[in-house]
Amino acid sequence: VPAHRRTMNVVSAAPPAALARQAPPVHVEATDVSKRYGGPKGLLALDHVSVTVRDGQFVSLLGPSGSGKSTFLRCIAGLETVTSGRILVRGTEIKKPPPDFAMVFQRDVLLEWRSILDNLLLPIDFRGESRKPYLARAHELLNLFGLQGFEDSYPAQLSGGMRQRAAICRALLSDPQLLLMDEPFGALDALTRDQMNLELQRAWSMSGKTVLFVTHSIAEAVFLSGRIVVFSARPGRVALELDIDLPRPRRMAMREMPAFAHYCAEIRTLFNAMGLLKED
Ligand code: ADP
Ligand code: MG
Repeated sequence: VPAHRRTMNVVSAAPPAALARQAPPVHVEATDVSKRYGGPKGLLALDHVSVTVRDGQFVSLLGPSGSGKSTFLRCIAGLETVTSGRILVRGTEIKKPPPDFAMVFQRDVLLEWRSILDNLLLPIDFRGESRKPYLARAHELLNLFGLQGFEDSYPAQLSGGMRQRAAICRALLSDPQLLLMDEPFGALDALTRDQMNLELQRAWSMSGKTVLFVTHSIAEAVFLSGRIVVFSARPGRVALELDIDLPRPRRMAMREMPAFAHYCAEIRTLFNAMGLLKED
């Protein structure tokens, strides 16, 4: 077990039988991934990053701005090539976007001239598939994310939180097994963000999907994740991996619990040590 791989059993919720259960299969495996932009003398964004994500896990990548979080996610999505190392998704090396994934960005990238329903169906239209088999699911997702009644509205008529909900619905519509989320709630106000965290947790726990979630909010990462991978400042290296053994479903009130605070403190201490937070 590498030194950075630690588990804090602040709350031991898991009975021995569950511990003995076999670990789910590996979904995403990055081994020694380095990424340099702009040729051999260019900027090193990722430096020997190794991360393993298993089926159905919710893993957050947490790190300061510029630590290569987005780069890493784009490499997994096959939108960027790695300079060295390799990434396997379900055992296959990524050369182009994998078939069974969807990505959600900080900006919702909805098309302003399409209604919400038409935005949800955009990838289906793109692929030239028939909309029909997706319609029921589209309405179900809009319901789940509190957007019922807004099918025919245009993005400009929705609040920031609602737009981001629609973007998440669109990502979920094709039922991808792997969901890559790049600071999806970064542009939202604090209360809306809390609400979105609850909704995402609910959608995730109902779906069994694998989620890789990028954030620079410590509390958001602790709230949502089963495991947090903390990146160092540029070049991005894995500075810490932390299992979050808090019971699910997580409730907002848990953020005031000592166990929750422990996790946050551990990460904050690391950020302090990395010189990312200077308090006096
Ligand atoms: P994060 O998402 O953690 O903020 P990024 O992955 O966006 O970090 O960026 C990591 C580093 O790589 C930054 O210094 C950024 O300027 C650089 N970078 C990101 N994308 C590119 C690109 N397409 N070309 C050159 N440099 C890039
Ligand atoms: Mg980023």
